[in-house]
Amino acid sequence: MSQYLDSVMETVIKRNAGEPEFHQAVKEVLETIAPVLDKHPEYVKAKIIDRIVEPERQIIFRVPWVDDKGEVQVNRGFRVQFNSAIGPYKGGIRLHPSVYLGIIKFLGFEQIFKNALTTTPIGGGKGGSDFDPKGKSDNEVMSFCQSFMTELFRHIGADTDVPAGDIGTGAREIGYMFGQYKRLSNVFTGVLTGKGLQWGGSLARKQATGYGLVYYTTRMLQDANTDWNGKNVVISGSGNVAIYANEKATSLGAKVIAMSDSNGYIVDEAGINLDIIKDLKEVRRARIKEYANIVPTAQYVEGCRGIWGVKCDVALPCATQNEINGDEATLLVNNGCKFVAEGANMPSTPDAIATFQGSGIAFGPAKAANAGGVATSALEMSQNSMRLSWSFDEVDEKLHGIMNKVYDQCTAAAEAYSEKGNLAAGANIAGFLKVAECMMAQGVV
Ligand code: NDP
Repeated sequence: MSQYLDSVMETVIKRNAGEPEFHQAVKEVLETIAPVLDKHPEYVKAKIIDRIVEPERQIIFRVPWVDDKGEVQVNRGFRVQFNSAIGPYKGGIRLHPSVYLGIIKFLGFEQIFKNALTTTPIGGGKGGSDFDPKGKSDNEVMSFCQSFMTELFRHIGADTDVPAGDIGTGAREIGYMFGQYKRLSNVFTGVLTGKGLQWGGSLARKQATGYGLVYYTTRMLQDANTDWNGKNVVISGSGNVAIYANEKATSLGAKVIAMSDSNGYIVDEAGINLDIIKDLKEVRRARIKEYANIVPTAQYVEGCRGIWGVKCDVALPCATQNEINGDEATLLVNNGCKFVAEGANMPSTPDAIATFQGSGIAFGPAKAANAGGVATSALEMSQNSMRLSWSFDEVDEKLHGIMNKVYDQCTAAAEAYSEKGNLAAGANIAGFLKVAECMMAQGVV
């Protein structure tokens, strides 16, 4: 079987040259599903693997807009509609200068399995642009978002493809994109998630990825006969996922002592004051450095990667891909870290994952651990279809139930395929099995 999977991987590399993040994401999945193919030769015959690594559709488009000085700017937009076997394509829109096709494809590929694990009926997709919202005025962001949606609107729809936020795309950007979609289509519909509460958004969507990550990690702690009480936690990033992971972990008794942005990190041994972080990041759009000017117990260090040298019990990478390499993973392990759960997508390099797994610490993979965001987006879609709004507690309770089910699927699949305790293998296998079954039922499409 490994020969067959090697040949699929070779084709992926040849066909998608210059896209190392996409290769990395595919390899990580293929490396764990050989035992599934041994049990299900019909998947090999139907070329499920060959099909699953090839996006159903990839859209690349020009995004021209005019800045505040009256100058024309040109960005590139992407939407990769990867797999619709179990529902409409679903996945966020990333706005960051590092975005190119390979990043969107890696994210879209991961999304297929993650969405399957949520137990909700959504397929995998992802989009974005190399536009950088940082330092832009509201007017410039609106100009970009309207131009982006002017092309994207013809490819998406409430039953076709439902984008959401991701790095650089928050409530403001979703609002501008939704407004333009509505204007062009003349339809008020749930075509995006992460919407404002007064116009179709769901309570608890903002908190969902971070809270969900903590619910998942709670199960990892429980399996090790412990809980959050008194645990020192390091969280990278200070965006949507990081902030709400901090909020939930703190409420359960943990102490978050370090957070970061792309410039550097802060350490506050007294426990980070989240109200200040929220004000800096959600209201003022400021740099994390300013926290140390406000809080005397805090220290700011330039350079974001040094955060993995801060001694902790639990590490929650919540910033971006490949933010922990093998050496940084070794540093975490040597400093006594016992739990790592991924809030960001693919934050650990393959070397880092091997280090975590080899040292016996508990490792929660992104596909499963950060599935709470998209799961709650699916709950937003349900509320939109029914034209009603659930209370915060109702949504949070459903999210909690889903994260428990995600965890149970990971452990059960790992055990069934002789990988007991390996949550990464379990997540890949459980997600893959569901999508493969649906693809088999729908024929060669
Ligand atoms: P935000 O834009 O809200 O925050 C991102 C944070 O990560 C910021 O602090 C940012 O710092 C930092 N960051 C971004 N890029 C880099 C980089 N190249 N190097 C170092 N730091 C960086 O994004 P989200 O919180 O929404 O997303 C964070 C991660 O979680 C991403 O991997 C995303 O794909 C994943 N995710 C998000 C979900 C969601 O619901 N939002 C759902 C599931 C996964 P700075 O401000 O300096 O750029």
